[in-house]
Formats: sequence, C-alpha cells, structure tokens
Amino acid sequence: MTVGRCLCGTVRYEIDGPFVNMLHCHCSMCRKHHGTAFVTWAAAPLAGFRMVSGADAIVHYPSSAGLHRSFCRHCGSVTPEAHAAQGLVVAPAGNLEGDLGIAPQCHMFTGSKARWYKIADDLPRFEEFPPEFRLQATPRAPVATQPGITQGSCLCGATAYEIPGPPLRMYYCHCSRCRLGRSAAHATNVFFKADAFQWTRGADLVADYAVPGAQFFGVAFCSRCGSDVPRVSVERGVVNVPAGSLDSEPGIEPMAHIYVDSKAPWDIIAGDLPQFAAMPTRT
Ligand SMILES: [Zn+2]
Ligand SMILES: [Zn+2]
Ligand SMILES: [Zn+2]
Repeated sequence: MTVGRCLCGTVRYEIDGPFVNMLHCHCSMCRKHHGTAFVTWAAAPLAGFRMVSGADAIVHYPSSAGLHRSFCRHCGSVTPEAHAAQGLVVAPAGNLEGDLGIAPQCHMFTGSKARWYKIADDLPRFEEFPPEFRLQATPRAPVATQPGITQGSCLCGATAYEIPGPPLRMYYCHCSRCRLGRSAAHATNVFFKADAFQWTRGADLVADYAVPGAQFFGVAFCSRCGSDVPRVSVERGVVNVPAGSLDSEPGIEPMAHIYVDSKAPWDIIAGDLPQFAAMPTRT
C-alpha cells in the first residue's frame, strides 16, 4: 500500500496499487498548475484508492471540458483525480511516499515542454499523449508577453506578475518539502531580487502556506486554480518564482540539482548539471 499526502498534511490517502503506469507530463497545463518543468503522474486501480482525511479541504478547479485539477485549499498541493470511466486514480507521484513498484515509463507532451528543460534520459518521448491512450490534446494558446520583462501567471489567469530585474539563480530542488508542495519530482525555482517583483493581477487571490517550524519554507498559490505562484521572502530579500508559472523565458538556465540526497526513489537524475546533496554554498 502506498500513502499519499499534501504538504500541510490535511489531505491524506492510500492507494493499494499496483501502479499500472507512470509518466512525465510536459504539457503547459501541468507546468502551470505545479509551477515545475514537468509533472510525474502515477495511475493505479480506482478500487484500491481511499481518502483517509481532508476530502472537504479539496478544491476542484475545472481546467478543461469535463476535467478538473484539484488541490488542498490550505497548502496548494495537487490531489489525486479519480477517472471512473478508466477505473483509475491518477496521483501526482511527488506526494506519494516510498518506492512505488514502478518507474517512469515515458515523457508525454514533449511538444509543449519548456525550452530551458533538457530531457536527458532515454525514455520514450511523445509529442502529445502516447498513442495507446487514444486521447486528443486540448489546444492551449501561449499567454502573450512583452519583450524585455519577465512575466508569469497562474493556470486560470486570475493572478499575474512582472519582474523587471535580472534573475539571480535557477535550481531544480529535490527536497521533500518541494516535492510535496509542487506535487512533482522536484521544484524548478528561479530567484530574483524581491524589490523587483510586482503582482499585476489578483494579489488578493494569492494564498500562502508557511510550513510550521521551518525557517523559510512556504508556498504561495492561486486560491482559485491552485497553481503555484511566486513567493516573496522578505527576510532573504528574494522572490522564489516557480518556473512553470512563467509566460516569458526566465533569462537564465537551470544551474544545478539541489537536495539530491532527499530525492524520491523513482527519480533518476540524468544529464550533466552539477548535483548537490543539500544547498550549495554561494560565493
Ligand atoms: Zn494541504
Ligand atoms: Zn500534463
Ligand atoms: Zn489561478
């Protein structure tokens, strides 16, 4: 049995398994909703899925015709979706504990992937859904941006922001809090100076969850759609921008994988970016 939970622990569930498929999705909706380079989904028979707690804390955002994307209203973690017609529950693997008895099988929607994300493993790649899914992609136009300024927004579009200054650093973070908070294999974070950041829409819709007892860690998300959005750390003078929320290019390339000692057992880091057990020391 596999246990799943949101970052704040309100939403908890169990999945008996076995998991029948596991894949990385690079579609623009997954990237926006989770704020990451891509999302890893794991599917198992629906009959073996049980909510343990927090069902009443889940918000269902209608993201496309007949489909929802759901999240915890307290912390923004993405929660599993039941697909009754297929008899499957589809869960974000970042919220599942331990070894899942399955490894990621492919990358899908590579035709929509972020330009700055380089797929470095040799798993099969599909431009949209794998053909055996017999599913049609929903077209989604990119959000228009102005040149010379970094801009981003959430999936529902109610929140949007601008950052006139240059980026400072960009990391893939594999720590357990990032995995739970982003509901993904790892966070993809771009840091800018805090004073250069401004909301252009929906600042009042941004919800914030600070992990109790943590010095800095927290997440900000759109209370309407659950998308991860930038979070300003006044103490550190920086804003942490989930790269998946960007509508323009970040103006920087990913620099390293950090906290790799905390990565999920199924997360295979490929490619030649530097890897750090924890946070690298900056000079
Ligand atoms: Zn939660
Ligand atoms: Zn997707
Ligand atoms: Zn939104």
